[in-house]
Amino acid sequence: MMSLAKGLKGSNPASQAISQNNLDILQKLDLLTIIAIDEAAFTSDLSNNTNTIILLCGIAAILAIVIGSITSDWIIQPILQLNAVTKQISNIYFVKPKSQTRIQEIQELNNCFVEMTEHLQSSFESLVDQKLYVSNLLEAMPIGVAIHSADGALTYLNDVGQSLLKTKIIAVQTADNLHSTFQIYIANTDQLYPVDQLPSSQAIAGKTCYLDNLEIVHGDERIPLEAKAAPVFSIEGKVNGAVVVFRDISDRKKTERILADYNRKLEQDVQQRTLDLQQEIQERQQAELALRQIEIELTNANQELARLANIDGLTKIANRRGFNQRLELEWRRMMRESQPLALLLFDVDYFKLYNDHYGHQLGDRCLEKLAETVDLIMRRPADMVARYGGEEFVVILPNTNLEGAAIVAALIHQAIRNLAIPHQRSLVSEIVSVSLGISCFVPTLERSPDILISQADRALYNAKQQGRNCSKIFDEH
Ligand code: GH3
Ligand code: MG
Ligand code: MG
Repeated sequence: MMSLAKGLKGSNPASQAISQNNLDILQKLDLLTIIAIDEAAFTSDLSNNTNTIILLCGIAAILAIVIGSITSDWIIQPILQLNAVTKQISNIYFVKPKSQTRIQEIQELNNCFVEMTEHLQSSFESLVDQKLYVSNLLEAMPIGVAIHSADGALTYLNDVGQSLLKTKIIAVQTADNLHSTFQIYIANTDQLYPVDQLPSSQAIAGKTCYLDNLEIVHGDERIPLEAKAAPVFSIEGKVNGAVVVFRDISDRKKTERILADYNRKLEQDVQQRTLDLQQEIQERQQAELALRQIEIELTNANQELARLANIDGLTKIANRRGFNQRLELEWRRMMRESQPLALLLFDVDYFKLYNDHYGHQLGDRCLEKLAETVDLIMRRPADMVARYGGEEFVVILPNTNLEGAAIVAALIHQAIRNLAIPHQRSLVSEIVSVSLGISCFVPTLERSPDILISQADRALYNAKQQGRNCSKIFDEH
């Protein structure tokens, strides 16, 4: 019916209207068309076509498989190659993908891989170079270098380090067994170095440290080491590991020991020398002290000797020598001061007879008593009585005129009289008496002390002549 309707569409409008009416009628009709075809004639053609279709389908399927296989192979080949390259990259074999493909995306991917491979190869070669350089550098160093990981385990030890630590075992050394494996001791002790104090441990803790009290012990051999350690930081600032450099300081320690020994010996020598010097100074001081003591004693002895030299042994008053010295002194003084100097010379009357009668010993006692008595009469410091000789005495009276001298003379007579020493043989008295001569003048350059003495002597002579037991003043007439 549809084909009928379609067949009507190409007619003119009038006929189209009729046809429309016809169509409406047709649509309202319920028609059933039955076509009868001979089955054999129909199915024989169909069977022939089916075989042809099956054959064609088979051929098409085979072609599709072949073309698909070729296509997939064509597509997958560069991918496989890239895959192989990727595997090789992961195994550090830098082989550039060579295949070319017309698939643009894969070709771009291929190009990227080529570029990436070149970069990686370049970077890797640079890294290898650097690693080699660093490795050569570390091995060329004349000191031991150890590198530790963040957990303190030893990861690298250069040749010098291995030689110093006498080991080639590196990998198994953890932080805890470092000191026992390498026999690291605190210098000059039998104590293993504390693990937390080891240079590597301190560096792992983030500190840079220097130590020179480490010792590696191998049997009887002890190798002193100095070590410096520093932490290695990651980009994030975390401690990634540590580097420890160390070296044998046997020579330095030996030099230090020699220096210390030398200093100790020098110190001892200086101490000993100081002691010796102190002792020497002490001895010298003692000697000086003794010498000074001797000098003092000598001075005292000299003074005593001088005193004794000027003192009369019997009467203990000044002797003739003492008298002369004092007279000389006072002579000059009186001359300077233009003052009178008086001299009294007195002699025991009839003393020979005294000795004869009483004996020399009593004569001596008599002389002693007389000297002592007259000495007491001397009031002024400059006044002086001396034994002039035998039984004669002399008195020096500075700053004394004739009147004063006469008074002193009278005092002497009186004092001797007061002694009342018996003298039975005296021809002038029953007791010991003296005769006395007085001289006095102001000393001048034209005169000498001898004149004063001789004048007194003359006066004494007069006193003797004129009856004894009296005083006479020198009179030039
Ligand atoms: P004159 O009155 O004239 O002085 O008579 P004199 O006897 O004292 O004089 P003389 O010169 O003849 O004698 C002095 C005596 O003094 C002689 C001597 O024995 C005595 N005489 C002198 N020195 C000492 C002395 O140190 N000890 C004693 N015991 N006698 C002495
Ligand atoms: Mg006499
Ligand atoms: Mg006499």
